[in-house]
Amino acid sequence: NKQYRLAARPVGTPKDSDWSFTTEEIPTAAEGEVVVRVHYVSLDPAMRGWMNDAKSYIPPVGLGEVMRAGTVGEVIASKNPAFAVGDHVTGYHGVQQYGVSDGRDLVKVDPKLAPLESYLGGLGMPGLTAYFGLTDVGAVKEGDTVLVSGAAGAVGSMVGQIARIKGARAVGIAGGADKCRYVTEELGFDACVDYKADSFPQDLKAPLKSGVDVYFDNVGGDILDIALARLNRHARVVICGAISQYNNTTPVQGPANYLNLLVQHARMEGFVVFDYVRQYEEGTRQLATWYAEGKLKLKEHVDTGIENFPATFLKLFSGGNFGKLVLKVSED
Ligand code: NDP
Repeated sequence: NKQYRLAARPVGTPKDSDWSFTTEEIPTAAEGEVVVRVHYVSLDPAMRGWMNDAKSYIPPVGLGEVMRAGTVGEVIASKNPAFAVGDHVTGYHGVQQYGVSDGRDLVKVDPKLAPLESYLGGLGMPGLTAYFGLTDVGAVKEGDTVLVSGAAGAVGSMVGQIARIKGARAVGIAGGADKCRYVTEELGFDACVDYKADSFPQDLKAPLKSGVDVYFDNVGGDILDIALARLNRHARVVICGAISQYNNTTPVQGPANYLNLLVQHARMEGFVVFDYVRQYEEGTRQLATWYAEGKLKLKEHVDTGIENFPATFLKLFSGGNFGKLVLKVSED
């Protein structure tokens, strides 16, 4: 059982020496437990926050512990009547090839409906983040203009597609012409603007001529500030994440344009997808239905080999992933 453990608390961008690579025996199941062979590990920006010794919505990963991560795999041994050998499940087994669970955090998934890795992406936690963030926190309604940053990513790609399903206009912001082309041509957003282009942020002017009713923020920083300047009356700013700041070594500066919230009687609200755990079943059913109806497109970026975890993880912060980033850790 190959594993990555947190060896040191990173300062800025994580380095190879912040991890230790260990190998253990494959675990066995005690009464009530199951052993899961992990096929894919989910690589999420939030993992960077879990490496810091700071107060947050969940405790940090302890030094020496297997790095926490979402996983999808197959039950290979079960002493829990709710799970049979061969069941496919998502869980939080971390960056390793085998995990043990008492079953409470496991959710059965159907590999016939969608590829296993999709349950870590659009049909899993990032999809639910987009769904509850946009419909509940963002209170999206027909005719709204929804602006979303990180538009080609796991959460952002779903936000724009759900906005369209709800009868809203979707405008994305993403890094590079290829990602923007994918967002409009494949995902069906009304427009997408490349924030790395010299003509940014002027390029936002045309697609946002009727302003922004919902800004779904995945990146924070300057892009949040630019979006705040374009809010409509009673706009909703959904603070989902701020990936541009996760490796900061200096304190984060607040947005200069926040008083536009006052002028436009707008609100800005943060949320964590775990807030909605009691509604996961409803959300998952809705996403799976839209997917089966052909209304949602899903894309995963699959890297292979647990040894590549440190380098693959960094892709999130350089824009090196195109779609939901997962690491295949099973060896067949
Ligand atoms: P993505 O799949 O979107 O991958 C991260 C992307 O962020 C990169 O591909 C890159 O895309 C973009 N990015 C990286 N650095 C910067 C930067 N400095 N400025 C602008 N964009 C940048 O990740 P997820 O969809 O998994 O996560 C998106 C956000 O949602 C994160 O902030 C994450 O923390 C948050 N999140 C919050 C949850 C919650 O419960 N609140 C749950 C899940 C995710 P590009 O090439 O376009 O630059």
